[in-house]
Amino acid sequence: MSLFRTQVQKMEGYTPGEQPQESGWVKLNTNENPYPPSPDVKEAVQKALEGRLNIYPDPLATEFRKVASELFQVDPDWILPGNGSDEILTILMRTFVDPNEIVSAPYPSYTLYETLAEIQGARFQKIQLQPDWNWPVADALEVAAKSKILFVPNPNAPSGNRWPDEDLLSLIPTEGVLVLDEAYGDFCDRPHRCEVLKAGFGEKIVVTRTLSKSYSLAGIRFGFAVAHPELIRGMRKVKDSYNCNTLSLAAATAALKDQDWMQANTNRIRTTRNQLITQLSDLGFEAVDSQTNFVWCTHPDREHERRYQELKRRKILVRYMKFSLEEGVLDGLRITVGTDEEVGQVVDALREIG
Ligand code: PMP
Repeated sequence: MSLFRTQVQKMEGYTPGEQPQESGWVKLNTNENPYPPSPDVKEAVQKALEGRLNIYPDPLATEFRKVASELFQVDPDWILPGNGSDEILTILMRTFVDPNEIVSAPYPSYTLYETLAEIQGARFQKIQLQPDWNWPVADALEVAAKSKILFVPNPNAPSGNRWPDEDLLSLIPTEGVLVLDEAYGDFCDRPHRCEVLKAGFGEKIVVTRTLSKSYSLAGIRFGFAVAHPELIRGMRKVKDSYNCNTLSLAAATAALKDQDWMQANTNRIRTTRNQLITQLSDLGFEAVDSQTNFVWCTHPDREHERRYQELKRRKILVRYMKFSLEEGVLDGLRITVGTDEEVGQVVDALREIG
């Protein structure tokens, strides 16, 4: 007899990207920002360290919520922070989904949604995207309508394309919520500002955000939800009381306040990204016109796994991904946009590898 819950026995679990612990790697596999966070972050964490670590942090994250609400021009009651946006996704699942209810997401997209649905005992339905990464609108409508949560990363991962908000608004579940996962929203040519919440459907949409990417704080673990206070009220019942610690709250608040720093870095990354797309095309790859800090590319010879291994031998880490589709397997390489130098190294290596 197994000690595990039936669901846990059945599931595979989520496999995160490789995180080598030794130095010397060109690490372009988990979409981290190659630039350091705002210098204000260090100062704020230092100050918090010198403060009172013996007492619990503010369970309401008052100061962070005030800063975030000003940024998105909503009331602080619209904000709920978490230990990375992955924790927010867990909170959403536990707040809105009963066992056996339907949870859906486009496919291929962020595979954690399926794992979270499995843990909750929900039924996960994939909405297979078209080969050009667009929505199969008719199929999507049917599945979306009966979902308790429809998760949509916008821009999508691993493809990096962005869908128009208007298209997604037509997919709001009849008796559920649409979760717009905007982990990469700051890298778009026209960055998101939660406009979608002001379009009149606010009570059925949750936007999730992370500080891991555009704010260079993957190591801190901080994300947040923006949603109507009625939705946040339920989510607050589910979250751990002290899900964000004193140091991460200080870091995240300081990072959000320094918009100039974030924008300077995202601008640099956008420029490097566009160069990478051109260089990959020159090498014979098909690269998606990404709106994120990574680029999904495939080669007509389909030798993606070999290239991934050859890059790894050269201590360059990119993400090799493989998805089973109705018509066969789709695989490819997802390359994080690093510094110009790092991107130069991966392009040179790909040229050499052939
Ligand atoms: N959503 C998407 C689409 C992602 O790619 C990631 C990063 N793996 C996350 C959410 C989670 O980000 P974090 O937990 O670091 O905030």
